[in-house]
Amino acid sequence: MTKRILSVVGARPQFIKAAALSRVFLEAPDFEEVLVHTGQHFDDNMSAVFFEELAIPKPGYNLDIHGGGHGQMTGRMLEAIETVVEQEKLDSVLVYGDTNSTLAGALAAAKLHIPVVHVEAGLRSFNRRMPEEINRVMADHLSAVLLCPTREAVANLANEGVTKGVYQVGDVMYDATLFAKQAAERSLGILDRLDLERDGYSLCTIHRAENTDDGARFRRVLEFLEAAAVDGPVVFPIHPRTRQTLERHDLNPKRVRLIDPVGYFDMHRLLSGARQVFTDSGGLQKEAYFHRVPCVTLRDETEWVETVEAGWNRLWTSDAYQPRAEISDYGDGKAAQKIADVLREELA
Ligand code: UDP
Repeated sequence: MTKRILSVVGARPQFIKAAALSRVFLEAPDFEEVLVHTGQHFDDNMSAVFFEELAIPKPGYNLDIHGGGHGQMTGRMLEAIETVVEQEKLDSVLVYGDTNSTLAGALAAAKLHIPVVHVEAGLRSFNRRMPEEINRVMADHLSAVLLCPTREAVANLANEGVTKGVYQVGDVMYDATLFAKQAAERSLGILDRLDLERDGYSLCTIHRAENTDDGARFRRVLEFLEAAAVDGPVVFPIHPRTRQTLERHDLNPKRVRLIDPVGYFDMHRLLSGARQVFTDSGGLQKEAYFHRVPCVTLRDETEWVETVEAGWNRLWTSDAYQPRAEISDYGDGKAAQKIADVLREELA
């Protein structure tokens, strides 16, 4: 029996995660996937480029919802996704990560009694001031199948009394990285274009509201960056929201080269040549490890604690890395395949 799955995506990291799984669904005769793009990220370099590079199937639904406050955006998505779920005959709704699209998708499906599958379940920062933390806690508690990347994530769920339908499957971002690395190795494109030497620059991304919404905090983060990245330029593909903050406060950090957001393959090319990564991104903390590039996380806590324990990542609030080790949790690049196997069992 074919299982019909609605995947809800809307933001950059979700396109990347969904690509890994869509590839598996496309090849499996027993799955039929319909994609909903909520529109949360809509610029070509935040959305279309990932569909092209990663050959993500064309969404069946483009909701074109973005902007406004969290409540307004989530509310509009909830209403629109509910209509889609009512129209389609579905076996499951799949949501990724921790955005407003994740929460809206999970809530719409759960209320209509369609089993929710959460990819990247169980992550916690234990900081409820982060909108992402609220979204992921809610999504987990609405889900019937919880697909955790790490053992820590499984333990976090157990601490909240969630043990049914929980699986540790590894990290789909590692699957995505292996795919991108292969493609990125074919050319060094962006390094030549930006005239960068391998190991001669750092790479930075900043987009979390906790860093961009508060001008004083944002200044402190940039000062830290200027002081820490002394051995060459910092290449900074800047998120549209962060660019607005920079312009609003008229900031011009030293040795920082601002560029527009780049595609996924260029990001991996930049990562592979970087001597250090500075970021508040969840995905990039792990991708730095996948390329064995040390990372400094520009936050006061991280959900990806194993990167810190294994000495590849440190918080900007700490001075030193732990002794280095390898991380086994993220799996062998076949997390998407494992997810498909779990769904075959759970949705049978
Ligand atoms: N990324 C990208 N181009 C960029 C910046 C980031 O392809 O200019 C990728 C990055 O490699 C990672 C993902 O986007 O795979 C991370 O997304 P983001 O930082 O927006 O979200 P988070 O991971 O924090 O949820």
